Amino acid sequence: MAVGTITKEHIYRSKLPDIEIPNHLPLHTYCFQHLDTFRSRPCLIDGSTGRQYSYDEVHSISRRVASGLVKLGIQQHDIIMLLLPNSPEFVFAFLGASFCGATATTANPFYTPAEVQKQARACRARLVVTLARYVERLSGLEGVKIVCVDEPPEGCLHMSELTESTEPFTEPSIEPDDVVALPYSSGTTGLPKGVMLTHKSLITSVAQQVDGENPNLYFHSEDVILCVLPLFHIYSLNSVLLCGLRVGASILLMQKFENVGLMELVERYKVTIMPIVPPIVLAITKSKEVGRYDMSSIRTVMSGAAPMGKELEDALRAMLPDAKLGQGYGMTEAGPVLSMCLAFAKEPFEIKSGSCGTVVRNAELKIVDPETGVSLPHNQAGEICIRGAQIMKGYLNDSEATKGTIDKDGWLHTGDIGYVDDDEEIFIVDRLKELIKFKGFQVAPAELEALLVSHPAIADAAVVPMKDEAAGEVPVAFVVRLNGSQITEDEIKQYIAKQVIFYKRIAKVFFENSIPKASSGKILRKELRARLAAGSPQ
Ligand code: AMP
Repeated sequence: MAVGTITKEHIYRSKLPDIEIPNHLPLHTYCFQHLDTFRSRPCLIDGSTGRQYSYDEVHSISRRVASGLVKLGIQQHDIIMLLLPNSPEFVFAFLGASFCGATATTANPFYTPAEVQKQARACRARLVVTLARYVERLSGLEGVKIVCVDEPPEGCLHMSELTESTEPFTEPSIEPDDVVALPYSSGTTGLPKGVMLTHKSLITSVAQQVDGENPNLYFHSEDVILCVLPLFHIYSLNSVLLCGLRVGASILLMQKFENVGLMELVERYKVTIMPIVPPIVLAITKSKEVGRYDMSSIRTVMSGAAPMGKELEDALRAMLPDAKLGQGYGMTEAGPVLSMCLAFAKEPFEIKSGSCGTVVRNAELKIVDPETGVSLPHNQAGEICIRGAQIMKGYLNDSEATKGTIDKDGWLHTGDIGYVDDDEEIFIVDRLKELIKFKGFQVAPAELEALLVSHPAIADAAVVPMKDEAAGEVPVAFVVRLNGSQITEDEIKQYIAKQVIFYKRIAKVFFENSIPKASSGKILRKELRARLAAGSPQ
């Protein structure tokens, strides 16, 4: 570019006006700010037991949990781990941590012992809230208190120590930049890292969705929101739980997705809002049972976490002709919501099929050429970047990775390729980053590659995504055997399966003489993905 040339930055903003966001408050204060208007309304409904908790109860139990945490020695800024399925106790523990100025790190309860312990050690969790059957996975963790929601094994405490604590409690002074949630994500490259989401970032993100006169996401206190997506993932924690609490809606907790169970709950509790992911849409629309249940109460279906194709959208539209359907686009590091379909607004805008909506309010989005970093005009595809108070503070104890993701001007680089059309709608077309998404769950290739090369018969390995109808993507491995080794595909699959959660299992192994790499040593994943797409991996 010639010296002195002034280039125009192409920055995209919401079609909705910016709003005042009270992001100086602690997260729990913000969530319960309008408590007086819906104190006695059902806040949480446990779908498996039918047990309901009013807003008043959730507020006071969570405050008691905070006092119990303090009694157990948890101090401000300490980290507690939630290793739980969707349950009222998950919510009490998360909000309790917020009340006492601690941070909650969330983990998939189906993780293997190695996966759980890696995360617990990396963030130095001081206490874990879990179920008795998961306690064995924590054995070997030194100095960590374990609290069980059900009957605790020896050496562990019962949740009532927290929920029924009578200890006097004074709320500490919480700064907007204090970290309240620490989900793990591999981001654009490498291993999973702790994503520091502050009180300010989560309040901003929730407000971008549900605050204001004509919010992006029109939830209200009469709504019943289905919470089937796991609360350990930020999509559910933020766009289901926190948004639901803010507006005073009823949140119906479902522990595990299952077709008929979901439809029964929708019918029984007259669910109005159904936030889901494309694999759930696929399962429901293909279910033979679908006509047997009354799903007519549903007025909004939001899909996110992975791309939803037009065929799926059409199938869903045919099944729920009166509901508004639309996609949102999120990334844990972005707080997580970047864009949202305005069909969900109180005064909706027209949207196109396949669109991920427009950028949320009080934020800026740009599309940059990944080679030059120059921002691009409408209809040109490049890397999606976002800026605003909702994005993460950074990765825990990893300033290098933080610098690689948030640039000096505050733009978070998503590693997703997309464009903005003439109507300001965002379309995602590709992924620049390594990440693999199995039914919306993250699989970090670097994690599987490290495990593969730890095998004595494997010299080198690369893991990339392969398209899959049910899961969206599955991980496949390109493996170089060590000289003379005869290790088989099955042996490799078994070796990995023993160490990881089910969705990180390797679906296919291709044996190679070498892994294509750039001179810097970086794996040329694009080349491997192209070979897979062409159907000629070897
Ligand atoms: P996570 O941090 O687990 O939420 O994963 C974030 C990534 O999921 C994004 O960076 C995208 O690659 C992908 N993703 C999320 N929402 C969508 C969507 N609506 N369409 C396509 N990909 C999506």
